[in-house]
Amino acid sequence: RAKQMGKNNSQYYTTQLSEEQMLLFELETSLYDAIAHNQLYLNYQPQLNLDTNKIESAEALVRWKHPTLGVISPGKFIPLAEETGLIISIGEWVLKTACIQAKKWIESGYGLKTIAVNISVKQFRQENFVEIVKNILESVNLEPKYLELEVTESILMQDRGKTALIINELSELGVKFSLDDFGTGYSSLSYLKKFPFHTIKIDQSFIRDLTVNQQDRALIDAVITLGKGYNMQVVAEGVETEAQLRLLEKFNCDIIQGRWLSMPISDVEFTQFIINFALDNHAQKLG
Ligand code: C2E
Ligand code: MG
Ligand code: MG
Ligand code: MG
Repeated sequence: RAKQMGKNNSQYYTTQLSEEQMLLFELETSLYDAIAHNQLYLNYQPQLNLDTNKIESAEALVRWKHPTLGVISPGKFIPLAEETGLIISIGEWVLKTACIQAKKWIESGYGLKTIAVNISVKQFRQENFVEIVKNILESVNLEPKYLELEVTESILMQDRGKTALIINELSELGVKFSLDDFGTGYSSLSYLKKFPFHTIKIDQSFIRDLTVNQQDRALIDAVITLGKGYNMQVVAEGVETEAQLRLLEKFNCDIIQGRWLSMPISDVEFTQFIINFALDNHAQKLG
């Protein structure tokens, strides 16, 4: 009887799996059409420079509005796009769209200094990545210094020589690099020495318990000190509360990003946000 049940269970399990696989398959086939059918769009999350008290950068984050399943988060479809190779075209679309938007904000004089764009491993590893970035910057007529590419350690771990060549070539042009999700992987300090990062982003998992966890606090304090020593900016991701903000200020963190300031928002909302933020500051200075 136990055997029977075990068998039934495993059958049940297989059915579950195949349903999940069917959903993945459906996502995969519809992802092919997502760009052509204008289903992808970007949200922008503002970053606040704590020294200047200004919104000086935005991180572009992609979203997919599926015709029947609704909005799908990048955590779900970026891995799929990586597996299928669709990340090459999606990544290029994201980069171009973000640069076009940044150009508009910069020309409007809102004081934006960088647009940050996430780059995944396969995208970075494609044959002509440097050319693609250069071509986009030229076609949009955006100066390279306005673009910051966010990469994770996984890019740095394999094929270090080639990776260094790509990062150095783009850095010489003026493009900036930031190390995303710092603290979650091996976080080898040699990466900071070997690659010319402009920014380190401390992963939100360390910010979450900052106020109660002494170890997280020590880690954040150390990373911020390290950043200063290496002449890199440090961004704290996922800042949700005033208490977290106060501690980060105490540690001399350069930049914060997270719900406390704003979750990722549309281009129209971002424009309003950056204008209102500057107006509020101005009003406060006047008294
Ligand atoms: P990430 O680059 O580390 O982005 C930060 C994520 O944290 C975003 O999730 C953002 O919405 C979320 N977040 C920001 N502030 C808070 C907060 O205060 N509380 C909480 N709970 N969450 C916060 P999102 O937009 O779902 O993106 C998830 C990941 O997907 C990104 O992590 C990034 O690795 C990837 N991704 C997003 N857009 C792109 C893209 O255009 N290209 C590539 N290659 N990857 C992308
Ligand atoms: Mg990021
Ligand atoms: Mg991150
Ligand atoms: Mg500071």
